[in-house]
This record gives sequence, structure tokens and C-alpha cells, in this order.
Amino acid sequence: MTKIINICGARPNFMKIAPLMRAYGDHANIEPLLVHTGQHYDENMSNLFFRQLGIPEPDVNLEVGSGSPTRQTADIMTRFEPLVIEHKPDWVLVVGDVTSTIACSLVAVRHGVRVAHVEAGLRSFDREMPEEINRVLTDSISNLLFVTEPSGIENLRREGVPDDRIHFVGNVMIDTLRANFDKAQASTILEDLGLAPKSFNVVTLHRPSNVDDATTFARIADAIDTVQQDLPVVFPMHPRTRNNLARLGLAERFAAMPNLRIIDPVGYLDFLKLMGQAAVVLTDSGGIQEETTILGTWCLTLRENTERPITIDQGTNRLVGTDTDNIINAYRKCRSTNLATPPVPDKWDGQAAKRIAAILAAT
Ligand code: UDP
Repeated sequence: MTKIINICGARPNFMKIAPLMRAYGDHANIEPLLVHTGQHYDENMSNLFFRQLGIPEPDVNLEVGSGSPTRQTADIMTRFEPLVIEHKPDWVLVVGDVTSTIACSLVAVRHGVRVAHVEAGLRSFDREMPEEINRVLTDSISNLLFVTEPSGIENLRREGVPDDRIHFVGNVMIDTLRANFDKAQASTILEDLGLAPKSFNVVTLHRPSNVDDATTFARIADAIDTVQQDLPVVFPMHPRTRNNLARLGLAERFAAMPNLRIIDPVGYLDFLKLMGQAAVVLTDSGGIQEETTILGTWCLTLRENTERPITIDQGTNRLVGTDTDNIINAYRKCRSTNLATPPVPDKWDGQAAKRIAAILAAT
């Protein structure tokens, strides 16, 4: 038997873990356990995704809750360690680049347990991003590195990772998109919000570099103001961003935009429908750059860099930074350019989790 403890903790992890838990079912020799660290815990950042994506109830919830990244890291490690000792797994499998990813990987290696990292090798080369540190550290202690795009292979080779540890398997987040696309069409979110197909824009923001800094956030707010004068904007707001609005004195600035709808974060199916039907998505999310590429929707990434270059080279993503005029100019360009259906990146075919499960089953 191959015993695998699978880790999830924050919203973008749930889309990645769902197809893996399903794919393990094809292998009688895999015994999966699911651990939720509790990094995200409320209904619309966690529970809803378990129900909508059919993720099994976690075997254990570490319930770390919110707190500074340092405290979260420490709490996850302290609470995860007894599980590793008790279960003696063959693998700890981690996904993505969140605090739970590095915290659980560190505990595993301390106990001589091998680490498998899904979405390995992505690099923004921006060490000010907490996620970049999580990626680099997790990859450096992983035994199996599952890569989504060719840049990941190059990055890992350059860092000296031996080829036999690197597996180009495709993108589990796109497995979830493909598995749920038809179901998402039944979402009534457009009607609920009074939006017409391809006649509105979507905004999401949650990166600390954008929403913790008053000047940067205000520059972005100015751009959103212009964008909402062209087409209605729906902004499902991350809890971190919501907390910062009042603190940074920006609540009134946003409240004065008549065509802007700020709503709570929505479930995956509603969000998939929104992304697919949007004219333009403006975001600082990692995963959304990939999803819009497959959906054929323009994506303006409000960052200076991306760890997912294939979404620019082959997809619908454009890096625009956080300068107000740059965002507005790029937005206008999208609005006046017909988007050809982009080619599908290699292996973003909905089968990534199956490839990963097969490799793990053979270990
Ligand atoms: N998402 C969602 N509801 C929302 C906003 C995003 O279901 O209101 C999904 C989105 O489709 C993607 C994931 O959440 O699958 C992205 O998560 P996030 O932006 O928090 O993380 P990142 O990708 O930046 O790590």
C-alpha cells in the first residue's frame, strides 16, 4: 500500500486537490488521507468548495484559523507533526504555494517522509512575494515535482533538481475547470446580479503587495473607476481585501462608483460562469490567469511579474502592473481587440490528476 497524506488549506488548494482525490480511486494500492489545515475556514472560502467539487470530508482538520503567516506556519507544523508520526505515510502531497504547502512539507522531511509537490517549478523571480518563497523552499525539499508548464521544468533544472524527480503532468486546476464547466453553465449568477453576457468585467484582488499598501490600492481603485464607467464591474472581494478597505480609507472611494458591485467571494461554479462570460477579468490571482486562458477571456494581471508565463505566451493574459494609466490603456486595448480562441497549453487536457496518481501508484 502507498499511503499518501494530502494537504489542503486555502481556497486555491481545493480546486487542485479535488481531481487528485478522485483519481486515487483508480488505484487500489493507494490509501489517501485528506488533511485540511484550516488556513481558510469559512463557508465561502472553504466549505462551499468541498460540496461543489465533491471533495471528501477531510480525515483531519487542523483548524489553525487566521493569524500572521508566522503563527499559521508554526501552528500548522505543530498540529501536523503528530499525524505524520501516527500514520507514517509514504508521501505527503502538497499543492500550490500557500503557507500550508511549505509548513507540511517541512514537517514531512523532518520525519523522513517524502514530499510530492503539485504545481512545482513556477517562479515569479520576485522574492518579495510570500508565495515565491513557499515555492522555492517546497521544491528544494520535494522528492517528486509535478509540473504544469515547460517553464517549470527549466526553472527546476536550473536549480539543480535531477530530471528523474521532475514530471510534466499538466494542470490539475484545469482538470477541475473541465470537470465543472458544463455544471457551471446552470449558475444563475448573471441573472442574480443583473449582468448580460460579455457586457461586464470581473475584478479580484488579494495579494498583499496590492491590497496592503494604500498608494498601490488607490492607483488600482482609480483604474477600476474608469473601467466601471465603460461596463459594470463585479468584484467578489477576498476577506483580506475587505478588511483593508476601511483600514486604508478606501471604502468611500469604492462606494462612489455606481457601476461597481462589491460582493462576497462566490462559489466555484458561479465564479466559473462569471469568468467565462466576462469581457475582461482584472486580477492579481495566480489560478485565474490559467483559467481565463482556457476560457478564452481576456485577463489583465495587476502585477509586475507572473510565475505562469505560458498564460501570456499562449494565452489571454497580459501583465499590466498597478499603474492607473497602464491598466486603463490595456483595458481599452482588450475592448477593441477581438480575441481569437487561444491554443490549449500542452497537457491542460483534464487528465493531470490521473497522470499524477499513476506515478504515485508506481512508487
Ligand atoms: N475563485 C472562486 N470564487 C471567487 C474568486 C476566485 O471560486 O470569488 C476561484 C478561482 O476560480 C480560482 C481560485 O479561486 O480557481 C483562485 O484562488 P485565489 O485567487 O484565492 O488564489 P491564487 O490562485 O492567487 O493562489
